[in-house]
Parts: sequence; structure tokens; C-alpha cells
Amino acid sequence: MLRLERTTVRYGGSTALDGVDLEVAEHQVVCVLGPSGGGKSTLLRTVAGLQPLDSGRVFLDGRDLAGVPAHRRGVGLMFQDHQLFPQRDVGGNVAFGLRMQRVPRAEREDRIGELLDLVGLPGAARRAVASLSGGEQQRVALARALAPRPRLLMLDEPLGQLDRSLRERLVVELRELFGRLGTTVLAVTHDQGEAFALADRVVVMRDGRIAQSGTPLEVWQRPADTFVARFLGFDNVVEATVSGEAADTPWGKLPVPEGSSQGPGALLVRPAGVRLVPATQGLRCTVTARTFRGTHVAVRLQPEEAPALEAACPLRAAPEPGDETGVVFDAAEVVVLGNASGA
Ligand code: ADP
Ligand code: MG
Repeated sequence: MLRLERTTVRYGGSTALDGVDLEVAEHQVVCVLGPSGGGKSTLLRTVAGLQPLDSGRVFLDGRDLAGVPAHRRGVGLMFQDHQLFPQRDVGGNVAFGLRMQRVPRAEREDRIGELLDLVGLPGAARRAVASLSGGEQQRVALARALAPRPRLLMLDEPLGQLDRSLRERLVVELRELFGRLGTTVLAVTHDQGEAFALADRVVVMRDGRIAQSGTPLEVWQRPADTFVARFLGFDNVVEATVSGEAADTPWGKLPVPEGSSQGPGALLVRPAGVRLVPATQGLRCTVTARTFRGTHVAVRLQPEEAPALEAACPLRAAPEPGDETGVVFDAAEVVVLGNASGA
């Protein structure tokens, strides 16, 4: 439904979007994930028609959007700061896009009621914006963006302002809502938890380019390169040379999954694949730290002459700082990565 072809945007000398190819299918929720400054907001503004392209093309339903003004594009954008109009009540905020479309008053009021029900704020139309909590304001901003029934809904850091527990609840609600309505969504966020919970497809962006695209499971299980792996919070990344089903690494010879790409590169070991054994076996390490993570304990390990690594241990079996331990590696939790950018 939405297709970007070699989309490039420059600000002065710097390139914010660098030849981005991206597709969003109808009813799909695509989430672009990346660090701040990576070009995510620029991407959305480009599709919305608020930011001119330097080169490339944007198609919606097969139609080239070049020259189509923002208000004719049929896309809705919920901005990063989602500012509501403070002088208008909740209903007045939700009505904004409907007024622009000259929807008659009675129909507008019906639609406002429907939308407020939908976002879990029934009967809130006459409330003052200032009386709402952060989470409620977010819901109103969402209702406002949904009101004109955009072909494509775009969300810029939709839950960024909220505290963690509220964010985790709202993200589940949003996903359920979009599924029920069949909304096509392009969202951007720097928060991996949000992206993975919301998206049918995750697109990882770095410096205006796409680093990886896939289902949440694919990206999580097989980060494409060291940048993606580290951005997802994996720290056990080292240089490696793969030969057959083993890799030479600073941690010694590690088993790798069948079919791993061969030769020099980088390698990731998930913390669950770092198994602690008696100090007389495997790679000898000293425990330097222990962090309670709720479902497991993260144990920081320092080998004698190699980079530190992290193991995920069951709550009861975790050793103490200062303990000596051996380490062996589980091939199923080892991922051979692409080019060692940022290793
Ligand atoms: P993100 O949303 O991923 O944080 P942005 O799209 O806002 O990234 O910004 C990408 C890059 O472009 C950043 O380096 C930012 O400083 C720069 N940038 C964004 N908007 C402008 C602008 N209007 N003028 C100049 N530079 C900008
Ligand atoms: Mg942004």
C-alpha cells in the first residue's frame, strides 16, 4: 500500500534519509526502530508531505505522491510530542481533522463518541485537556489521528512520553485496536520493547539507512549485524572466524549453528547460551557482578585475557561476585553476524 523507493532527504550537508526502500502492506503494522537522530521522524514527515524529497519516490496505493499536498494524501500523523490544543476540550481536539474535512456537525459528534469509546475514554468529550493524565492525553491524540479515517496511520514515538507500566499496557491495547480496525500503521520508535510488541514487521534504521527488516522474531533471533545486535541490547559480541561448525574467538573455540556463514566476521552469544560449569572446565572466568532481572540473574564474567561476557542464570544457581567459574557455550544461542560494523 505504501512504497518508498530510494528515498533521500538532506539537511544542508547531512543526509537524514539515504536511499530508503520501504513497503507497508494493507492492514500491516510496520515499526521503524532506531536510535535518536537516525532519520525516523524525517521518514514520517516525508510520507506525510511535510518534508520535500531530494530524490526517490513515495507511492500510496500505487499513486506517486510527488506534488500531492499534505492534506490530500489521506495519511494521518501523530507527532512525537502529540501536542493537544489546550484551549479546546477533548471533543474539540478529536474533531479537528473532521472539521478540516467539513464533516457535518451531527455526524462529527457521533464519530467523536465512537472514537472516545474506541480509545477507552467513553463520555470524555467535554473534559478539559488539562484535566487528563499523560496516558489519557495519548489516547486523545490517537483518537484525533484516527478520526479522519486515514488510509495510513503514522505514529512518531507514540508512547515515548509515558512511564513504563502504562506504556506496556497501552502497547497491547494499541495492537489489539489496530488488529480489530484493520488499520495500516507505520510507527517509529527508539524503544525496542515498543517496536517488538506493536509490529508485524520491524525495520531497524541507522544513520538514514535500513540495517535490517523482518518479523519481530526474525530480527530478535538473527540480528543482521553488530549494530543491530548491540542496539537490541546484546553485549556478548566479538570478532570471530568461522570454519565449519566452529568459530575462533577471543573466548576460545565456540560451536556455531549448522549453515552459519563462513570466514571472518562477528558473532553474538545470547546470555542464555553462556553456561556456567565448574572452574576446572571450559573458559575460566571471574564473576564481577550480579544483577537481579526478575526472571533470571545477569552474571557479568571476566575471562583472564578476553572481553567480559554476560550469562543469564536461574535465580537459585547464580554465583557471587569474586567466585571463579568455568564457561561453556551452547551453539543454539550463538548467532554469526554480518559485517563487523561497530563491533
Ligand atoms: P529521529 O527521529 O530518528 O531522531 P530525525 O529524522 O529527527 O531523527 O533527524 C535525523 C537527522 O536530521 C538528525 O541528525 C537531525 O539533527 C537532522 N534534522 C532533523 N530535522 C532537521 C531540520 N529541520 N533541519 C536540519 N537538520 C534536521
Ligand atoms: Mg524523532
